[in-house]
Amino acid sequence: MELAQVDTVGVVGAGTMGSGIAQVAATAGYDVVMRDMNQQLVSKGFDHIGESLERLVAREAVSEGEASAARERIEGTTDLADMADADLVVEAVTEDMEIKQSVFEDLSERCSPETVLTTNTSTLSVTTIASVTDHPERVLGLHFMNPVPIMKGVEVVVGEKTGRDTLRLAHDFAADLGKETWEADDKPGFVVNRILMPWINEGIRALDEGVAAKADIDRGMTLGTNVPMGPLELADHIGLDVVLDASETLHEELGDRYQPAYLLKRKVAAGDLGKKTRAGFYEYD
Ligand code: NAD
Repeated sequence: MELAQVDTVGVVGAGTMGSGIAQVAATAGYDVVMRDMNQQLVSKGFDHIGESLERLVAREAVSEGEASAARERIEGTTDLADMADADLVVEAVTEDMEIKQSVFEDLSERCSPETVLTTNTSTLSVTTIASVTDHPERVLGLHFMNPVPIMKGVEVVVGEKTGRDTLRLAHDFAADLGKETWEADDKPGFVVNRILMPWINEGIRALDEGVAAKADIDRGMTLGTNVPMGPLELADHIGLDVVLDASETLHEELGDRYQPAYLLKRKVAAGDLGKKTRAGFYEYD
């Protein structure tokens, strides 16, 4: 399939990432169908998109007209059958292999055999996700970064059976959304999370082991290494549950050097998931 043949983009999952992906695709002019499990979660996705577009309008990054046109191009649904018309689908559901495989099984059944199916997984095997579909050559990883409307990078993950045409389309699609891409092989954590997750976990361990106060750990890393956010603040942005899921996959696949920090597990068990629950390592209003 050529990029010119892509009119409708399906987004499965309307959380932190799905809502951002729906927003950037609609802003680039695609018709978008965004699906979550129930109407409340779909509405929450639309709230995120509304707030994010408002911020971009305030910063004059998009005009009011462009923002409302983008909003109009997104249709919310709770029915996966509405993905039938999508030419390209981005799956952004919970980081869990069973859930992702069941979504891909359904997509493979309902979408046209031409439809390109992509996963926004942070660490799970694209090849294993693709294995439940009828056309694994049309499946790849399209790993957007958080927050999607702001972050320029998209990691394109090549599964064992990903076809050349699918790969080219993924790069073209990301470029059309104003993003820049790099390619990674389907190995645990790809490039970004393989390196980022141990960094975050080491920051959490430094807090748990009393090396410094949380603000000093973040200040040390921002001022000391010139990154825009320290590990604890970044973990809150990503979502501590997402960090834990990713860390557990890397630990399983790559061994002890990737063990999740104890304090991370305790925070997630307590329901303090970061910005999205208004409490993580920091409190948010
Ligand atoms: P999230 O928890 O904010 O959102 C996930 C959404 O998926 C929820 O709204 C949930 O209800 C929905 N969902 C679950 N099962 C579903 C199904 N069968 N059909 C439709 N919706 C379903 O999580 P997120 O942070 O948006 O992460 C989504 C994916 O993106 C994960 O694979 C994660 O690893 C990846 N990712 C996250 C980040 C990040 O910084 N948060 C960055 C890059 C990639």
